[in-house]
Amino acid sequence: MKTSRRRLLQSSALLPAAAASAAVPAQDRTASTPSSLYASLGIKPVINGVGVVTVLGGSLMPPEVVQAMEEAARYFIPLPELQKKVGARLAELLQAPACMVTCGAASAISVGTAACLSQGDPAKLRQLPGRDGIRYEVIQQRSHRSGYEHQMELCGAKIVTVETRQELENAINERTGMLFFLNKAEPLGQVSAEDFVKIGKARGIPTMNDAASDATPKENLWKYTKMGFDLVIFSGGKALRGPQASGLLLGRKDLIEAAQPAMSPYGGIGRGMKVGKEEMVGLLAAVERYLKVDHAAEWKLLESRVASIRQALAGAKGVTTERHIPVIANELPHVTVHWDEAARGLTAQQVGDRLLASDPPIQVQRPAKGQLLISVWMMRGNEHEIVGRRLKEIFR
Ligand SMILES: *Cc1c(COP(=O)(O)O)cnc(C)c1O
Repeated sequence: MKTSRRRLLQSSALLPAAAASAAVPAQDRTASTPSSLYASLGIKPVINGVGVVTVLGGSLMPPEVVQAMEEAARYFIPLPELQKKVGARLAELLQAPACMVTCGAASAISVGTAACLSQGDPAKLRQLPGRDGIRYEVIQQRSHRSGYEHQMELCGAKIVTVETRQELENAINERTGMLFFLNKAEPLGQVSAEDFVKIGKARGIPTMNDAASDATPKENLWKYTKMGFDLVIFSGGKALRGPQASGLLLGRKDLIEAAQPAMSPYGGIGRGMKVGKEEMVGLLAAVERYLKVDHAAEWKLLESRVASIRQALAGAKGVTTERHIPVIANELPHVTVHWDEAARGLTAQQVGDRLLASDPPIQVQRPAKGQLLISVWMMRGNEHEIVGRRLKEIFR
């Protein structure tokens, strides 16, 4: 009697919003399910029509990932040993010679570069970003500029840019420490991934492939290490749905061993790139889950969301929609919307602003005038219906 009364009092003390969200299983919560936590911070959750992007929080962790992190949070463990054990397990799952967990793809670029430039020599690693006696030049194709050059430069790397295969061959010299490849840029460059690997091997220079956003289809997770790249990188917080601040560095055993002391808890260049025990086990749980997910069923679900949004806009005057699948990065069904801005008296900016002013706010991409690019990948529950309805209203 006493306890049930206390329970009743406790539950009635909950805010209405908190009570409502507590009633919804975590994995079914959508942007329209109230979050007392974010409300208390004055933050409004959005419907994510952009996809797995860092600025909107990456992806969302499934219950098994959260559970692993929650359990990890309750014990002290020797962290370097956990990194080694988790890395070994991930390497086995992803058919790579070796692996380590980093705090994101960008940090994997840094510690991977540190490994290539120091070549496993602790004295050289301590010396970075100093260049004395270091093979500090990193060569990349012009079209492979990623915006992540800083992650290499902080190790002392000098980025050398080339265009043709001949230029690449000619640029390699006794100062060359690494060849960098941006996976999603392959169609834009003159040197293919296979040729890039061949050149690296023939000249004895390690190759790194940044495939951060390219974990779909899942076979990509071993495709590039098997192709012969010495280091391959994926974000943990994108398609894999691991912790947002996690990443994978896969590849040659000697290079992974050289990269580990470049990062926290060891001193040196990557000390600021700390990976917690929660991220390590969280990413492992995420990879284990990802390899079991029925990707064909998920693809069908995405197709149905794409069809639903296109259907909602079917009657909109002067508006056409298409199903669109990007090449390499985020290789999944999207919706594109096109219209003549002048004819409709409506700019993409205005449509984007109205979507953002909706409740809950809806974020999509505006790649050009009179165009929207909508990713349905990270939508939950009936969010695609809300997006379709709202677009129909805006274009009415
Ligand atoms: C997202 C991304 C990164 C950065 O990934 P984080 O996990 O946020 O550090 C690096 N390279 C490419 C190509 C990306 O798409």
